[in-house]
This record gives sequence, C-alpha cells and structure tokens, in this order.
Amino acid sequence: MLGGTFDPVHLGHLRSAVELHEALALDRVHLIPAKAPPLRGEPSVAPEQRLALLRLGIGDTPGLVADDRELSRVGPSYSADTLASLREEWGPDARLVMALGHDAFLRLAEWHVPQRLFDLAHLVVMDRPDHQAALPAALRELIDGRESEDVESLMRRPAGGLLRLRLPSRMAISATALRERLAGGRSVRYLLPEAVERHIIANALYRPDRDCT
Ligand code: ATP
Repeated sequence: MLGGTFDPVHLGHLRSAVELHEALALDRVHLIPAKAPPLRGEPSVAPEQRLALLRLGIGDTPGLVADDRELSRVGPSYSADTLASLREEWGPDARLVMALGHDAFLRLAEWHVPQRLFDLAHLVVMDRPDHQAALPAALRELIDGRESEDVESLMRRPAGGLLRLRLPSRMAISATALRERLAGGRSVRYLLPEAVERHIIANALYRPDRDCT
C-alpha cells in the first residue's frame, strides 16, 4: 500500500511505486488516495478528481493499481482501517507492506492507533532527497526493536517490521511544489505524467481562480 493525498500524483510517487514493486518483489502496489486525510487541511481537488488523475498516471504500468477503497468510507481516512481491509482481503499469512516517505514517517506517532499499523503490516520508509530531519522521541519509541536490516529478513514475517530504503531514483518532487507551479501558470512538464498534465490543464485544476472541490 502506498497511501497519500495525491494532490496531484507525480513522478516521485509513481517511480517510487515501480521501484518498491521491484525492490521488495511485491505482487502489486496499491496506490490509495485518501478521501479525507486526517493530518492536513482539505486537499485542493475533490477525491474523485485525484483518483482520476492517479488512474491516468498509472495507465497500464505493470504491478501498479489505483485503489479507490478509501473513497467509499465516511469520516477520516485512517490507514489502520485501510490496512485492516487489505488484511481481510489477503488473509493472515500475506506479507503486507505500507510504504511511506520520510516526511510522512516523521509524523507517524501522531497517526491514529500507530501501534496497530505494525499489527497489520510492515512499514517501509522511503528516503526523500528534500526531507532529512531526525526522528522525534515518540517515533523512536514506537519503532523500537522493529527495524530490519534488509528485505529478506523483513519479509520472513507477514507484518510488524520496519525497513528504511533508499530507492535508486530518489526524486525531489512534491505535490506542494506542483500546486504552486500550477497556480502560478508555470511549467510542470516532466514532473508528472503527460496524461496527468493534460487533464489538469484541460480542466483548469489547481488554478487560483477555480474552485475544484
Ligand atoms: P504534499 O507536498 O502535498 O505534502 P506529497 O508530494 O508529499 O504531497 P503525498 O500524496 O502527500 O505527496 O504523498 C503520499 C506518499 O508518497 C507519502 O508517504 C509521501 O512521503 C510519499 N512521497 C511523496 N513524494 C515522494 C517522492 N518524491 N519520493 C518518495 N516518496 C514520496
């Protein structure tokens, strides 16, 4: 699972998903847009639009799936609920992984029932070139004794471990920077897939003069 706001999806998400698929030898990577992300303000664009952009971005990429399961839930989009639904679908022995970037990882102790995430899945933290802060004390406590050295030892169990990964094509691309560029009418070429760019421009998404929600 790679959850997020995807407001909008960009090549940092998509290339990371492809490299996670390869590095961890996963069957598939579910990219799951949050309907109502609990720890941030309301996204700029409605969940259905963000899902449509995600679908366009993924296209026919092998191993990547645009998963809409959070869109049908009411209330905040808690990852623990999403993992529980994936666990129910795949059974107790499946190895489940929740991937997240270092920036999101830094706030993990503030998430809803963070211990429960480890009951349901492994956590894999991806390095981001533009986010390098040290871990807060509450987070160090939460992950104490969980860290694995490599993929092989992590994947011996179905859940409960933590692995920090440096993927080959780390990209300093963020949705925040993309939204700022789009709002200012500046180029976003080669930061997101062309089909996503075309849809954004054609529908005037992320323009300050338009309410997209
Ligand atoms: P924003 O700038 O709006 O906070 P974002 O670019 O961080 O957005 P999210 O949708 O919040 O995108 O991210 C979903 C997940 O993907 C998070 O775990 C985030 O850390 C991770 N992620 C986002 N961009 C990258 C990137 N360039 N490289 C690796 N992971 C990323």
